[in-house]
Amino acid sequence: MQLKRTKILATLGPSTDKPGVLEALFEAGVDVVRLNFSHGSAQDHIARAEHVRELSRATGRRVGVLADLQGPKIRIERFKNNKVVLQEGQDFALDTNLGKLDGDETQVALGYEPLAREVQPGARLLLDDGRVVLDVVNVENQSRVNCKVVVGGDLSNNKGINLQGGGLSAAALTEKDIEDMKTVAKINADYVAISFPRSGEDMREARRLLEAEGCFAGLVAKVERAEAMLVIDDIILASDAIMVARGDLGVEIGDANLPAAQKLLIKRSRELNRAVITATQMMESMIKNPIPTRAEVFDVANAIVDGTDAIMLSAETASGDYPVKAVEAMVRICLETEKQPNVITSEHRISEFFGRVDEAIAMSTMYLANHFNVSGIASLTETGSTTLWMSRISSGIPIFALSSHEKTLGRVTLYRGVFPIPFAHEKMANASVYHLIVDKLRGRGLVESGDALIITKGDATGHIGGTNSLKVVIVGEDPIA
Ligand code: PGA
Ligand code: MN
Repeated sequence: MQLKRTKILATLGPSTDKPGVLEALFEAGVDVVRLNFSHGSAQDHIARAEHVRELSRATGRRVGVLADLQGPKIRIERFKNNKVVLQEGQDFALDTNLGKLDGDETQVALGYEPLAREVQPGARLLLDDGRVVLDVVNVENQSRVNCKVVVGGDLSNNKGINLQGGGLSAAALTEKDIEDMKTVAKINADYVAISFPRSGEDMREARRLLEAEGCFAGLVAKVERAEAMLVIDDIILASDAIMVARGDLGVEIGDANLPAAQKLLIKRSRELNRAVITATQMMESMIKNPIPTRAEVFDVANAIVDGTDAIMLSAETASGDYPVKAVEAMVRICLETEKQPNVITSEHRISEFFGRVDEAIAMSTMYLANHFNVSGIASLTETGSTTLWMSRISSGIPIFALSSHEKTLGRVTLYRGVFPIPFAHEKMANASVYHLIVDKLRGRGLVESGDALIITKGDATGHIGGTNSLKVVIVGEDPIA
């Protein structure tokens, strides 16, 4: 049986709140859901998280929950008529002193005070993910930025603004984010995504604040600022996973630079033993259509070939017309692409020397898995770190993460090729544990009689970093004899 290895991350919203839709997403193969704190109330997020947990219990499929904090997205305020049409060549101003509701064809208010100090004449501002482009002409009274419209079009209330090339100073965590952390802690999210971090320090700060709320979720750095690319190792190392946030990043560094950035970010996070999510517009046309474009099929496949752990759906599932079909399309592309020989072999760290026993066991396991006929890897894990090392290596062999810890089961939902399986084995003799593992996987139809299965575990259970053994057992034969 082929198991889908690449993880699918689906954003929840009004479309998935409809009766039966979340159930259908589970059925289709969603692995992690995203609660987008840029939209909706705390109550909405809590209700959605509860529904996910309920279905996880009912179906026995542990689906992870990622809470995505809004961050300092700079936005225009509102228009008197909700929307204007800007013409190429006309003048248009962004004014921090204008009334929040008073925008019209010539100007609109802006909540971000520093903009007038931080832009120079000639700077290029991109609104609504680059659909409208303004060039700065001059700045008046430290509060009004006068612009010329370079690319016109519709502009409606509260659209986002980016500065081409980056350089806006806004801190990564806003008051709203810090308030939302309370909800995130209440939800007990498996992952928390931080928007627009500038440095590893922004991530460490977020971790301190979350831990103070009692939240020990994995942290995802959304790479979406030009400056972040310059200190990327620092950001990756301060995080548990990164997101290639192609929406904002593409606006800041230019769309033509995105493919190279995506490849670099995926490669680097794998090298540094971190997980990586590829996000934004992967199935954009499916917001309105039941099938993807050929270009979207290729985009998903290429991200898988690049080595991403997870692929993300945003509006496609949150507010689109075909949320279930979007997940189904991703699933079928994953299954076909994951059969490609270049996706299941690896030279990763082949010439390296390893510093730890558990790390060395993890790497040896993958060498064995990719060079011998085995059907699966069962890893008894306390924190999931053994399976993280394993999953950095490209392989077609499923890695079953067996753990008694809810937190660990949630953490591995994001790792490519790793499948969470609840497993309790405290105070049990080694021989019985091997039997129990084989029975468990067999019971779930994941291995069958005659299959070779690799088992990794530590001799002392409950001991973090204790993995010190690698054993090959044949399903159906006595593992001890
Ligand atoms: P967003 O982040 O959807 O929260 O903006 C992802 C991106 O910018 O690509
Ligand atoms: Mn973004």
